[in-house]
Amino acid sequence: MANPKIIVVGGGLAGLAAVIKIAEMGGEVDLFSIVPVKRSHSVCAQGGINAAKNLKGEGDSTWQHFDDTIYGGDFLANQPPVKNMCEAAPGIIDLLDRMGVPFNRTPEGLLDFRRFGGTLFNRTAFAGATTGQQLLYALDEQVRRYESEGKVTKFEGWEFLSAVLDSKRICRGICAMDLRSMEVRTFPADAIIICTGGIGAIFGKSTNSVVCTGSAQSALYQQGCYYANGEFIQVHPTSIPGEDKLRLMSESARGEGGRVWVPKSVGDKRDPKSIPEKERWYFLEEWYPKYGNLVPRDVATRAIHKVVYENNLGIDGKPMVYLDLTHIDRKILDRKLEGILEIYEKFVGDDPREVPMKIFPGMHYTMGGLWVDYKQSTNIAGIYSGECEYQYHGANRLGANSLVSCIWGGFVAGPAAMQYARNQKSAGSNGCHDSERKRQQEINAGLMSSDGAENPFKLWRELGELMTRNCTVIRYNKNVRETDAKLVEMLERFRHINLSDRSQWANTTVAFARQLYNMLQLARVIAQGAAMRDESRGAHYKPDFPDRDDKNWLKTTKAYFAPDADEPRFDFEPVDISLIPPRTRKY
Ligand SMILES: Cc1cc2nc3c(=O)[nH]c(=O)nc-3n(C[C@H](O)[C@H](O)[C@H](O)COP(=O)(O)OP(=O)(O)OC[C@H]3O[C@@H](n4cnc5c(N)ncnc54)[C@H](O)[C@@H]3O)c2cc1C
Repeated sequence: MANPKIIVVGGGLAGLAAVIKIAEMGGEVDLFSIVPVKRSHSVCAQGGINAAKNLKGEGDSTWQHFDDTIYGGDFLANQPPVKNMCEAAPGIIDLLDRMGVPFNRTPEGLLDFRRFGGTLFNRTAFAGATTGQQLLYALDEQVRRYESEGKVTKFEGWEFLSAVLDSKRICRGICAMDLRSMEVRTFPADAIIICTGGIGAIFGKSTNSVVCTGSAQSALYQQGCYYANGEFIQVHPTSIPGEDKLRLMSESARGEGGRVWVPKSVGDKRDPKSIPEKERWYFLEEWYPKYGNLVPRDVATRAIHKVVYENNLGIDGKPMVYLDLTHIDRKILDRKLEGILEIYEKFVGDDPREVPMKIFPGMHYTMGGLWVDYKQSTNIAGIYSGECEYQYHGANRLGANSLVSCIWGGFVAGPAAMQYARNQKSAGSNGCHDSERKRQQEINAGLMSSDGAENPFKLWRELGELMTRNCTVIRYNKNVRETDAKLVEMLERFRHINLSDRSQWANTTVAFARQLYNMLQLARVIAQGAAMRDESRGAHYKPDFPDRDDKNWLKTTKAYFAPDADEPRFDFEPVDISLIPPRTRKY
């Protein structure tokens, strides 16, 4: 096929990176996104993007970046694709620089780099504290150029519902819903690439944007795609609790010298600025003298938990600790952390340049995702994925490694999908489009006519509280098993939901109910995976199994959906450790 048609679902950094590659190679793209692509969650990324360019002459190298990533991920990531990503990262920064991303520079005019968690090197390029926004806008401009040349057609405000699979289970396109007219339609393609971002909404409140439900990944899992390492959920040590959602206080605050502390005595209610140095406990610096405040996220998060719940030293008896920037020159803060300080000021009311911030760990990221091979292909022919897969971060993602994995994953997935499509014969019409459209329309009709007593939004709140309580920082088998049993009950209750809105135009309740069902199914993958993995590795921590167990668990968890039983089943796959032998992780 000379000019294949590829569908890319998701217009964040991963999706746009894939689109650019496909268009460069002469393919045509239909690009689907729930939100206008420029509003994709990537726009919220703050702190920066990693690449070992060694411009500060510290002896950094792409191998060191690779080693930090594998070690930081507690050896759960397959090593060859991570190595490829780290080797590509410096070139990606140069490309972004040429596209016009306004990266911060040193007084000599070189690109500036700062430290982030899990490394001793200044390896993170940044544009103030709005890096994601600058990158997204740069890629968006490239995509607009291809759009004006007729190579890309955007479907913004459309939600992916499912893949269209033919009788041989080869993907022939997608089924999507227009969120305004509620029209359900199928779109043919020679291959599709799924780049639908995070799954934070499964945990209710998270630092993710609210469209990060994981609904697309779950729909594909229910259609036969493997979902890998679902139990690895990243809780960020420094979020700002809010009534509606959590907001992130980026790792860049610690990268620029921010210090985490609590008053040494229980119940100390003094103004933090009046507490003398010797009465403050800088517990991260004391426990981890080499990395200090920049230990990886899983390590910092557990340390904060310990200080709050075991030492009872949370500020004002609440689950909060101080993140202090007040010792840093205001000019530096304004130049390097522009964006995030204002977020704190806006939502909390205090100026972090003057008053230590109050922060606490919050759900942030999932290392798990669609299972893919080294070419970003899922186990269903014709379905590829970028960044919402599991490939690059193992058991714990290092800060600022996601923006690079988004772009790299897209750069691999785009050409791989093109190559696959070029080798495909065109699909004969076997009615698979019609039958998939009808299946999805029936789901909508079923929801519209359901007249039970369950409120989907209330169910979602319960889901979030349940998952946050039992499937985040500390896991006990009894609790995760009870969580799964509760999820089964909630799926049953879902069958009796009642939609508050039955209109046929822009009905957000129908769309939400569909997402909720998919979130419930994916939550079972997380809970059951967590229950099974009897060890502690990276972000997965079980006090009853406190050590990493390479003998039994140096394995990727691969969940697949058993339609007859309506629940997950699991396979396990050895991790490719061909380049760096596993060693004990100590910071
Ligand atoms: C607050 C915050 C700050 C962060 N800062 C950093 C940082 O400094 N450095 C770093 O490396 N990482 C950072 N991260 C992580 C990083 O931002 C994300 O992992 C990354 O942006 C994800 O990009 P993406 O392209 O995969 O997804 P997204 O940017 O979330 O895009 C997903 C796209 O999929 C679309 N979509 C979703 N579902 C559907 C559907 N069913 N149908 C159609 N379209 C759909 C959405 O509309 C959107 O266009 C941060 C994360 C958070 C939460």
